[in-house]
Amino acid sequence: MSEINNNNNSNTTNINNNEKDNEKDKDNKSQTPLILYTSKHLNYLQNLDKTRDKNSIGFYFNEHLKVSALYWGCSSLNLLNSLSTHNKSETISFLLKCQNPNGGFGGSIGQDSHITSTHYALLTLAQFNSLNLISAESIALYIKSLQNNDGSFKGDEYAETDSRFSYCAVAILKILNKLNENYINIPKATEYVLSCQNFDGGFGSIPGAESHGAYCFTCIGFLSVTNQLNLVNKFQTGKWLAERQTHLGGFNGRPEKLPDVCYSWWVLSSMSMIGTEGFFNKELLIKFILECQDEELGGIGDRPGNYHDVFHTFFGLCGLSLMKYEGLKMIDPTWAIPVDDVKNFLK
Ligand code: ZN
Repeated sequence: MSEINNNNNSNTTNINNNEKDNEKDKDNKSQTPLILYTSKHLNYLQNLDKTRDKNSIGFYFNEHLKVSALYWGCSSLNLLNSLSTHNKSETISFLLKCQNPNGGFGGSIGQDSHITSTHYALLTLAQFNSLNLISAESIALYIKSLQNNDGSFKGDEYAETDSRFSYCAVAILKILNKLNENYINIPKATEYVLSCQNFDGGFGSIPGAESHGAYCFTCIGFLSVTNQLNLVNKFQTGKWLAERQTHLGGFNGRPEKLPDVCYSWWVLSSMSMIGTEGFFNKELLIKFILECQDEELGGIGDRPGNYHDVFHTFFGLCGLSLMKYEGLKMIDPTWAIPVDDVKNFLK
């Protein structure tokens, strides 16, 4: 009996000591300033195309997303001032092979053309200053073929339509220096995008759809590319965007949802475009993004403790860049590539 009691006592003592140690660890952790694990992120990004682990990569070897993953991966390296470490000629030759006879790019070699893959391919080529390698006319005609009578755009020939594709369409044409009435009806396209705006100031995927942070980016991005930001009610939209910051510091995409690192980009870039980026707590958002890093393997996940991926790594870095975090290139809020590379097509 006394042994049991003794054991109990010693166990209790151990538990108390452990609790104290945990508290100490917590204190130490909260006192350690969070930093960006640049070299770990570089290591993660530079090895993305070497791994055969489909779960860890999640993207490069996911056939229909190869072009998207290249854009997220290359742009992340670029933001970290390390794009030169990526194999430029291999990347360009892969991208060129993804272009189809209809002018558009598929998500990988042999895949059907899609407006988002075409957009990502051009954004990646722009960062390698290699837009001269593609036929602008065939791509512009492909975009022209995707506009519907109501001004909206299909994502591909199978007719899915939403306001994301309106942004991709004008961005692609602007990159190609072909944003004019010969290819698309800009007033109709504008009418459609504005019809996606709701009474709360946010924008949805189609007219009448709930406001969503990512669609705010694409609709405001459309208006920015077409020089029509004067059509946005900055106060009302800015208020809806500012309300996306949660008590954890991160932004959510819609009311009552959990924060997610990628909204650091969708929401903050929207705020930047309309000039309301002063309306949120910057320190808290930086802290949230840094907490989503994988301290051991590099990369950033959607929220603290979750597995990293190249999509959230890129948009986490984008968010930090918009907040002028030290050591990162400046991202352009309209174009989603570094400001320096936008000069490769906006001359
Ligand atoms: Zn996300």
